[in-house]
Amino acid sequence: MAGTMRCARLHRGGEPLRVDTVEVPQPRPRDVLIAVKACGIIPNMNAIFSGRLWNQLPPLPASVGLDAAGVVTQLGSEVAGVSVGDRVYVNPWLSCGACPYCRAGEPLLCNAAAFQGYFGFFPHSLPQLLSYPFGGFSEYMTASVQRLVHLPPQVTFEQAARFGYLGTSFAALRCGEVGGGSAIAINGVTGTLGVGATLLALGLGATRILGLGRNREVLAQLKALAPERIDVLALGDAPIADWVRGRTNGLGVDVLLDCSGRAAAAAHTADALGALKRGGVAVNIGALTEPLAIEPIRFMTARLTFRGSNWFTTGEGQLMAEMAAAGVLDLSRLTTRAFPLAEVNTSLAEVAKRPGGFVNIVVNPDR
Ligand SMILES: [Zn+2]
Repeated sequence: MAGTMRCARLHRGGEPLRVDTVEVPQPRPRDVLIAVKACGIIPNMNAIFSGRLWNQLPPLPASVGLDAAGVVTQLGSEVAGVSVGDRVYVNPWLSCGACPYCRAGEPLLCNAAAFQGYFGFFPHSLPQLLSYPFGGFSEYMTASVQRLVHLPPQVTFEQAARFGYLGTSFAALRCGEVGGGSAIAINGVTGTLGVGATLLALGLGATRILGLGRNREVLAQLKALAPERIDVLALGDAPIADWVRGRTNGLGVDVLLDCSGRAAAAAHTADALGALKRGGVAVNIGALTEPLAIEPIRFMTARLTFRGSNWFTTGEGQLMAEMAAAGVLDLSRLTTRAFPLAEVNTSLAEVAKRPGGFVNIVVNPDR
């Protein structure tokens, strides 16, 4: 497919994106070309585009945009199992396939990992970013078929553009084996990760969901999702561990999901760790940077686990799509605010205002 397209590019770290006209890419033999319909805007995006963090930006100017959903419009010559017209979410996680972790079947541990349209984790992630040089703020992008989540009709492109943060929460809940009858606590529940985790935990059958956060308005919205299963605490209103134990027959929770932001206080996480049941698992998917004081002896005596989780597999993305199709994951609770491509910088300014996790800010590159 020849021709030109509009695409938002980062020319210099910290500067607004510019909408440029570039050539439509050709898919390589095992890739597909996708007409992007929606791409998500997430809280961390402004920090990454500042170019001041540890992440390796692609060579500038770079086409950016992390969580894209759209329609397959062209197939590479060796592609099978995908059809033109398929509605898909593109998992942007790029793994090299060749490192010891990839060869062991652990792509989320890839030591050359990168996010298409966003950044590389290592300087040697660059070749992967160059192989897939277009992000989701483009009218078209290429992707490998292994990274496509096929979307059922029940999932809109705008909802699928939220799959990155939803999937991160989903994989973490799976790390903690959350299922029917589970009791979980979510620290930082009012943000994008926390609201997604709450919707997913409801779908997975957790019967006690205890949300910890700051934004009282969003806390009330969360409680209203399922008042008989969800309870919420505004941080600072009560000691966390006591509050949680008071709502779990004195036992505590099976899983603590920590979604604390970069600038959050580690003291809240430390307090929340005290709410874990014996044998419980704490999973960190937040960006908390302040050192965390823990008592290792408690982890021994109570057989506790503290672990991290960074993203999700395409298979997990497909499971979320099936949950949404079956109605057990209710994505209609998210409120979409959509912007045309020309207003991509306005959408980034909107997310900087921290509107709360129910708000789903997206860009529609096709308008
Ligand atoms: Zn690898």
